[in-house]
Amino acid sequence: MLLLLAACGVAFNLNASVAPAEPRTLLVEVRDIPADEQTGEGSFVASDYNRERVVSLIRNHALLLATPAELDELAAAGFAPKVIMENKDQLVLYRRALYGPTLKLDPYYHSYAQIIARADELMRAHPRLMQRFQIGETTQFRQPIYAYRISNAATMAQDRPAVLLNGAHHSDELIGTETVVRMMEKLIAGYGSDPVVTRWMDQLEIWLVPVVNVDGHNVVTSGHDPRWRKNLRDVNGDGITGVYPEGVDVNRGYNFNWALGGSDQPDAYSYRGPHPFAEAENRAMRQLADLQQFLLSISYHSQGEVIFYPWTWGGRPTPDDAVITRIVRNVAAQIGKMDGSGTYDMSPGGPSSQSYPWFYGRRGTIDMIVETGKGSHIFSAEDAAGIVQENLKGAAALFDHAFGPGLNVRVTDATTGAPLVAEVWLPRIDNETVDRRHSNAEFGRAYRLLEPGTYYVVISRPGYETVVLPEQSVAAEGWTELEVAMKPVAGGE
Ligand SMILES: [Zn+2]
Repeated sequence: MLLLLAACGVAFNLNASVAPAEPRTLLVEVRDIPADEQTGEGSFVASDYNRERVVSLIRNHALLLATPAELDELAAAGFAPKVIMENKDQLVLYRRALYGPTLKLDPYYHSYAQIIARADELMRAHPRLMQRFQIGETTQFRQPIYAYRISNAATMAQDRPAVLLNGAHHSDELIGTETVVRMMEKLIAGYGSDPVVTRWMDQLEIWLVPVVNVDGHNVVTSGHDPRWRKNLRDVNGDGITGVYPEGVDVNRGYNFNWALGGSDQPDAYSYRGPHPFAEAENRAMRQLADLQQFLLSISYHSQGEVIFYPWTWGGRPTPDDAVITRIVRNVAAQIGKMDGSGTYDMSPGGPSSQSYPWFYGRRGTIDMIVETGKGSHIFSAEDAAGIVQENLKGAAALFDHAFGPGLNVRVTDATTGAPLVAEVWLPRIDNETVDRRHSNAEFGRAYRLLEPGTYYVVISRPGYETVVLPEQSVAAEGWTELEVAMKPVAGGE
């Protein structure tokens, strides 16, 4: 039975892997695997599909690790397994499988140094359109983690909806980073000539974090280990890093039901670390979320051709389920699958420790995980370019949703006119699972994406009279703008 490669956004059961009696020393190629052998009912591989066994399965072409006995079983079952390489060191086999015969990552992919250099080049040529922010540094090697703000006036914070794309929480999942880098180039090249890009940049703030897990990304792009998923934290403190499977899964480090997500075992694929926000990569993303409230975001991963979104929690959806599922459906519908069989699937994920429950539950950002590609984490340059092209369409659909419909509220102090941070909430919709949304400090602004309809809106802040707006209409398109001047209560702050 051959199960599909578990998508990284969902629970991954390493224990399902039954270790063979002898080590797997063979890298084996099998071509022309029939579709029914890939769906879980086949007799092709009598175990789970994870990276201990099947390294990649792209279309009908698999690379797997096998023992000599497993090789014989494959041949006896009527397949034509071809041994590509034999080696006692599994890392050597993984390198050959995922980097190819050159043992180097294809130059289609960027190293982090190349991303920084490319971004520098774009900023030098278009200093008004793009600005770089260091949002933190990596846990182990203290490398800078950068975010890029892109708009028609990027050197200043703009009072606009903000959207975010980020890549490589998991460092072997390279397609997301390449999608973010290509979007950066598309935005800068298209401003003033491409009307769609120009509209985004004139009316939104677009933020890009090409690589969250910079240390891990370097392990993969340098050719050291194409499996590397976690960060480089020296968990056992032996002073040696980069020995698989050490590190912390930085997509299990967010403080939203943290203890329910991932694993507490340091060698586990999804080790969540010692406590929430223990990893500097997660603190960097929190720092960014403190700097900028995001309306919408995509966290790119691999693989599975599916979008995970917040959430199903004890069988209950989020209070914003209608809005979220509409947006996710529209994003997914733009991203074609590799085999041409349709567009990406969608599925509500669990509510624990990953980026999207935290961004949504704590910050009100509709964040989703897009699992790019199918059957591997690293693809040939040709396949990678195709997957990126499709995912740029998905990102475009996300940006288009930052224009409403919904409420656009500006809150000020009635006496001074100064912008105010206040709770802007919908008591008939919001529930205890989600923190209340706030207007931001800089502009007193709060955006809330909604379905068309009529809403009961409450704006509250200690020291001010609560404002209740019982019947606010949201049309089918665009923002309903509300100016709210809050009166200080007598004797208040
Ligand atoms: Zn992932």
